[in-house]
Amino acid sequence: VRFSATAAGPAFDACHCATCRRWSAGPFLSVHCDGTVHVGDRSQVGVFRSSEWAERHFCRTCGTSLFYKLIDRDYWSVSLEALDDPSVFAFESEIFIDEKPDRYAFANDTRKVTGAEAFAEFTSDPEAGNG
Ligand SMILES: [Zn+2]
Repeated sequence: VRFSATAAGPAFDACHCATCRRWSAGPFLSVHCDGTVHVGDRSQVGVFRSSEWAERHFCRTCGTSLFYKLIDRDYWSVSLEALDDPSVFAFESEIFIDEKPDRYAFANDTRKVTGAEAFAEFTSDPEAGNG
């Protein structure tokens, strides 16, 4: 799958929610994007609905996690490691920190946001939502 997107900023975040961890085999590291992600061949992308408000897109050939997408708006979050050059983004925040298991922790100095705080921000700022 080849795609292009415009990052909303020079940062990525990690989501520790149970859905993201199951989907990503670990915390989901992603970059929020402005507007639509343009995919070269949509037939190569599988989609499943992970919650009432979101869906997740993956490569049908290799299973790679690609995008988190809100259903009711043009909001996309792209897997950091699906990008050609993830090194240009800085690790800024961790969301759903209250769902993070004790068995791992990032040493990075990040802004930490609980699920409730994320949902509160989400009502005014769709960048904070997940699930
Ligand atoms: Zn999540």
